[in-house]
Amino acid sequence: MATIDGLPPLREVIAAHDLVARKQLGQNFLLDLNLTAKIARMAGDLSACDVLEVGPGPGGLTRGLLVEGARRVLAVEKDPRCLPALAEIAARYPGRLEVVNGDAMEIDPLAHLTPPIKVVANLPYNVGTELLIRWLTPKIWPPVWQSLTLMFQKEVAERIVAKPRGDHYGRLALLAQWRCEAKIVMHLPPEAFTPAPKVHSAVVHLTRLEAPRYPANEAILQRLTAMAFNQRRKMLRSSLKSWGPDIEDRLLAAGIPPTARAEEISLEGFCALAREVAT
Ligand code: SAM
Repeated sequence: MATIDGLPPLREVIAAHDLVARKQLGQNFLLDLNLTAKIARMAGDLSACDVLEVGPGPGGLTRGLLVEGARRVLAVEKDPRCLPALAEIAARYPGRLEVVNGDAMEIDPLAHLTPPIKVVANLPYNVGTELLIRWLTPKIWPPVWQSLTLMFQKEVAERIVAKPRGDHYGRLALLAQWRCEAKIVMHLPPEAFTPAPKVHSAVVHLTRLEAPRYPANEAILQRLTAMAFNQRRKMLRSSLKSWGPDIEDRLLAAGIPPTARAEEISLEGFCALAREVAT
């Protein structure tokens, strides 16, 4: 059957290169090229962008990105078994795909790319959250990337877009929404992947804000939210007690009842408190 790019279907690629999925590398592959092209489109226009893809595997999403017109793709893959399959894609798109064999946690792929940069990836579940936190906490803001379009387990995606009072609301939602517009743009059932994982997945699209949504010192905001959510069901006057003897006054000055709990406080409220305790 003809594919969208004239390269062999992914099932044939996987069989030809004997790419038996390895669980310890979080290998759940997307084999439907119409689906990977659709995920690529969720990142918006790619024709004027370099794209970073973490974990291309046999290259399903990589092919989607290239079909959708990405100017250049840098694909960082830990598993050397995938390199021959990726080399075939690179040959089909001369000068547009660079593959680096390495650990995305250790190399600085953004050094290989020319802005504007978008990150698009079906992330390995074991490093996905940590990579997201790194991308959300660069040394300077705005970061070098414009947007992140990332596949996560559904539960992680829900933690990123969560609102106060919901079960998933916590530090990840606050960090992501402080610096980005974050939305779930696609839901995928386990059967969309080979092998099928136990859980559902979702694609989150994060567009960076030029400046954080509300002013606050990042280190203070991080410390406050860590203390507050470490004891998320306690009243803030108790969970933040070790901040200092005047914490109740500070909470009141920031417009927050000292009896409120972390999960009830909006991002705006935490930023107001961070500014208040900084004075
Ligand atoms: N993008 C492919 C797809 O959608 O079919 C594969 C996605 S699979 C969920 C995750 C990929 O990340 C695997 O190919 C795995 O080998 C790779 N990987 C795992 N840990 C990695 C790491 N630390 N750095 C780079 N790649 C990694």
